[in-house]
Amino acid sequence: MMDKRRELVLRELGLLPLWVPRARVRSGQSAVATEARDTPSTVVSVRGEDARNERILRADWTELKQMVRTCTACPLHAGRKQSVFGVGDERADWLFVGEGPGAEEDARGEPFVGQAGRLLDNMLAAIGLKRGQDVYIANVLKCRPPGNRTPEPLEALRCEPYLLRQIRLIAPKLIVALGKTAASNLLHTEASIGSLRGRLHDFRGTPLIVTYHPAYLLRNLIDKAKAWEDLCYARETMAGLKAVRASPN
Ligand code: SF4
Repeated sequence: MMDKRRELVLRELGLLPLWVPRARVRSGQSAVATEARDTPSTVVSVRGEDARNERILRADWTELKQMVRTCTACPLHAGRKQSVFGVGDERADWLFVGEGPGAEEDARGEPFVGQAGRLLDNMLAAIGLKRGQDVYIANVLKCRPPGNRTPEPLEALRCEPYLLRQIRLIAPKLIVALGKTAASNLLHTEASIGSLRGRLHDFRGTPLIVTYHPAYLLRNLIDKAKAWEDLCYARETMAGLKAVRASPN
């Protein structure tokens, strides 16, 4: 069955329904209605999107970086200085996923630099981690949204295959979703951070924990204690995952 978010976006673009079997015409459905749905441009657009996704999902690191560097698949490419691919150990056990680049990230080409980045580095240090050492950091979006606004559904949908491929190539033991945008895009839910944190989720077979985005924590100091709880929970979860992996049985 088609993913609900993908269906929503395709419907907004007027690309749904995708296919209507000719057999339905023979079984009594209106031929006019069928032609309206099964136009060549609709089919070509959807096939083009599928071919792009397949290319991304087969890419190695070099190809993937090149694709992101030159991507024009959503309107955000027009306003970027550069795309922001992600940074860190490409075989890391830990993957942290944020929302998208801000102004400093856009200028420097690296995620989580600036004030929120310094807080993230401190959060990592608090649980014995360091950027680049068994840690990879990426975003849902690779290009900066204007005014740091929340990504539009179409932007997130077009950018999603890059993150999926990064996750597949890294094969992390644990994913930490930083903030609502990361959580809602990875888990395909509109639930609040408050209701998602404190428990283990599943992202296609990889455990996932949700916590607050560092930029949010800079504005809401009171929730720093909750983020600390989440990090401790993540550290315990990772220890458990490594213990299971190390067990002879
Ligand atoms: Fe491409 Fe993602 Fe940048 Fe949009 S945000 S242009 S999909 S890399």
